[in-house]
Amino acid sequence: MRMTAGINPGQHMDGPSGAHSAAAHTSVPGALPEGFAVPGFDAVVRLVSRSLNVPLVALVLNGGTAYWFANGSALPTHEPHMLHPLYLEAARSLESLVVLDTFNDARFADVTPAPGATAGPIRFFASVPVHTLTGKQIGALCVMDQAPRDELTEHEQTSLRDAASLIGAGVVLRSYLGRTDPITQLPHRYAFFDDLRRHLREEASHTWVIAIDVAPVQRLNAFIRAMGHAYGDELMRAVAQRMLTWIPPDTRLYQVGASRFAAVLPDRHVEADTARLDYLVARLREPFDCLGIPLTIQPGVGLVKIGESELRGGDPLRLVMNASYAAQQSVRGWAVYDRRQDELHQQEFFLVTELAAALTDRTELDLHYQPRVDLDSGRCVALEALARWHHPTLGMIPPSRFIGLAERAGLMRTLTQWVLEHGVAQLAKWRSKGHDIKLSFNVSSTDLGADLVSRVQQVAERYKVGLDSLELEFTESTLMEHSATTRRHLTAIRELGAGIAIDDFGTGYSNLSALRQMPATSLKIDQSFVRGMGTSRHDEAIVRSVTDLARSMGFRVVVEGVETHHLYDSVLAMACDEAQGFHIARPLPGADVLPWLASHRGMPSRRMG
Ligand code: C2E
Ligand code: MG
Ligand code: MG
Repeated sequence: MRMTAGINPGQHMDGPSGAHSAAAHTSVPGALPEGFAVPGFDAVVRLVSRSLNVPLVALVLNGGTAYWFANGSALPTHEPHMLHPLYLEAARSLESLVVLDTFNDARFADVTPAPGATAGPIRFFASVPVHTLTGKQIGALCVMDQAPRDELTEHEQTSLRDAASLIGAGVVLRSYLGRTDPITQLPHRYAFFDDLRRHLREEASHTWVIAIDVAPVQRLNAFIRAMGHAYGDELMRAVAQRMLTWIPPDTRLYQVGASRFAAVLPDRHVEADTARLDYLVARLREPFDCLGIPLTIQPGVGLVKIGESELRGGDPLRLVMNASYAAQQSVRGWAVYDRRQDELHQQEFFLVTELAAALTDRTELDLHYQPRVDLDSGRCVALEALARWHHPTLGMIPPSRFIGLAERAGLMRTLTQWVLEHGVAQLAKWRSKGHDIKLSFNVSSTDLGADLVSRVQQVAERYKVGLDSLELEFTESTLMEHSATTRRHLTAIRELGAGIAIDDFGTGYSNLSALRQMPATSLKIDQSFVRGMGTSRHDEAIVRSVTDLARSMGFRVVVEGVETHHLYDSVLAMACDEAQGFHIARPLPGADVLPWLASHRGMPSRRMG
């Protein structure tokens, strides 16, 4: 049973007029705030209530915070109440205190029942100090009743002292478990939420939250792997120190993650003064001395303005993490939360999870094949394998959406492996039916490691397909990003007999000498130029001169995006070797390739011409 408001101790002992000095008045949450969890606290309080037969128990900390229990349940009200100075006196006292009847005690003389109270005032009061395991006095455990008592027996006093010891141990455990970071000694995430909640309830309807991410997780892990945890701990302490010199003096800093700090900022510190944020970032980017080793971090400072609704419905730290993550990648180093960006991240995260599942399950992924036609003969000489993802609820997701995602999420190798296996298996079937065709694959920059050569080789061997019937397409920018090592891997692939194509040529910034050094076999002119050929003489001139130049360098030239008859004719009139595009065929599902090859009688060709 919960007590009625009539015996609410704050009201009864103090009266609503608040006659005591401000220092003695401490606001007390009527009910346990969420996140307050002294291990075993509820059980101990119930035991005390039962064994002493008292309806009201309170833990009053010497800072003035009190947690009330009536008949063993947390009081339901959320309104703050004033504390009678006696509670604080008891909480700070090293002695136990027993008042058998407050009516006979001068210290309770000013107690009047609250107006409208349904029950009488507190008559019996007893308290014992609560200590931590190291003997520090942190408050008092108080028991109360509306009825006076004749005595508090020895046995009852022992029970009360035992309960206080248990609670003391629990408080230590609790601070160890979740309240204070053992390294930086900063309050932890639970404390942050408690304080934020209280701030929004009592001081402002909205507030700014700032979070500081010290460095990307991989970078931090690499540092700890190289140097050890002692250096990691020292770094956190050093960053915390620098943060503490920046935040306003009346503001607490919290450690809300292994390498993340947060604070609740007064409005004026954000809205008025972006220069202060620039200054913070500049300070955090200066090297830290980490046990003698100078170290620079990659800080991201995120900000979000939140109100109670955000707190109720969600996790403000999640929001601010989005901002600090974005900030980490930015030049400015700090960023304000952007809802649109957040939604994109959430969608991206959802898609990554789905893509990872699709890569395991594999019934949603598929390959389509787009024919490439030789312009001399008009025959299909190759097919390009293009990945397709049929999502059960989102429908068809184009590669432009999921390839980049796979790259960022580290899924690209798995995807490429699947494409290789699936595509080569298909090619083997088509070739066994007498079609002398090649297959080209798109390979991403993350695939360009030392093992690409052996991966391609193994798949080709497994399906007994000659490596000279495979071609790997890399975008121009991928090839240019990489250097001598890339060239070595590419040369190794070439030496096995596989072809290498420079895809989307014209969209990157390759210079002629870099191009000359590329061990590529063909060059695919990007469709944007080809599409423009119909309307722009400029584009036509580009395609023509790139073709001439590329051929003179020994590349086979493939023109992408040939959508119309007119474009096909223009390309035919140039020195290009192959054409690919909707005019010839759209990418075909695997099952449609053989029928297409059988019915296709060839495109107009130079030989015909
Ligand atoms: P890409 O390698 O340049 O492939 C050609 C893209 O142009 C394909 O788009 C194809 O459907 C489209 N296309 C072909 N002919 C025409 C045409 O005449 N007009 C127009 N407007 N478009 C045409 P898709 O299949 O959407 O693929 C887009 C890109 O995604 C590819 O460009 C490639 O870079 C990437 N991609 C596709 N599959 C894979 C894959 O398995 N692995 C990797 N790494 N990338 C892939
Ligand atoms: Mg391609
Ligand atoms: Mg392309």
